[in-house]
Amino acid sequence: MRAAVLTEVNKPLQILELEQEGPKLGEVRVQVKAAGVCMSDWHIINGDWPLPLPMVLGHEAAGIVAELGPGVSNVKTGDHVIFSFRPHCGHCRYCSTGRTVLCSGHNDTPRWRMHDGTARVKLNGEPVNQMARIGTFSEFVVCPAEQVVAVRDDLPWTHAAIIGCSVATGIGAVVRHANVEAGASVLVVGCGGVGLNVVQGAKLAGAKTIIGCDLLANKLAYAREFGATHTINARTEDVLKQVQQVTQGFGADYAFDAIGGAETAALVVDAIAPAGHAVLVGIPAFSARAAISPSAMVYGEKKLTGTYYGSIRPAIDFAMLADLDMHKRIELDRLISRTYRFDEINEGFRLLTTGEVARGVVTFN
Ligand SMILES: [Zn+2]
Ligand SMILES: [Zn+2]
Repeated sequence: MRAAVLTEVNKPLQILELEQEGPKLGEVRVQVKAAGVCMSDWHIINGDWPLPLPMVLGHEAAGIVAELGPGVSNVKTGDHVIFSFRPHCGHCRYCSTGRTVLCSGHNDTPRWRMHDGTARVKLNGEPVNQMARIGTFSEFVVCPAEQVVAVRDDLPWTHAAIIGCSVATGIGAVVRHANVEAGASVLVVGCGGVGLNVVQGAKLAGAKTIIGCDLLANKLAYAREFGATHTINARTEDVLKQVQQVTQGFGADYAFDAIGGAETAALVVDAIAPAGHAVLVGIPAFSARAAISPSAMVYGEKKLTGTYYGSIRPAIDFAMLADLDMHKRIELDRLISRTYRFDEINEGFRLLTTGEVARGVVTFN
């Protein structure tokens, strides 16, 4: 079976033939049908997140269950599934309180290996790690069964794939984490794959004013297509001044940082109104530290929170997002501006990092 492997940082992914063991206790083998190209993969490629290599990248994907290991009951062979990049042990303090994204049940094993600490893929007999225990830039994935969720089988594969990361993260940040209410004003900093989903989540929630902010004009055009009522080009305009102007001098009720960085984290806090809520969505480099204004937070009773994976519950929310898509309440077709063959995957990262696509997806036969 072939998989796209990162063997060294700042080098292209290599599509290599790997040996794969079948699923063990509580694991499944899935034939991957589509896998999105995401900035989180890029953070590993460029060394922002120093993780042990070699590693099969990819974490936003969908496929068909091909084989069950012993003891699997949440899916059956032939099910269409979306991968979750977080485990879900079902009984830790976080799973028990419905905050499954924070699952702490498997913290004693590395998050690029199976729960018994071993690897299911090997190259010349040596273990190869799987990003987030899945590593979906692969023809087949063996992973813990708790990390796949069955969904309706009329959902297009490309749509199913992106629900697994960017759609869940962006829409979840709005409707599951921040609970944006109808009539609110919302600033979205960064209008890439996640940011555009924050924009369409805000529209879904009934926000009155949705301000998209980016450095690239083509991304601002995308933001308008997905429901932004106003856009700000941060390269040429003063973001805070523009936000004030659009919100009658108050600032935004909600501001989402879909980039993930020190500057944008400080920006979203500065851009919210008193009693407003700033939300960090994009995942920063591990070393980032932000210069937040504590006095503005105290005097303005501002709230700053982080959301991981849109604070979703994959077992429930993947199906919800699939239904919203099939009922045309959210737009996933327009989000997917390119599809690639597996051997074009490095081109996918080039177009992602130059900002030329809303979302690109690798499709498998
Ligand atoms: Zn992702
Ligand atoms: Zn858990």
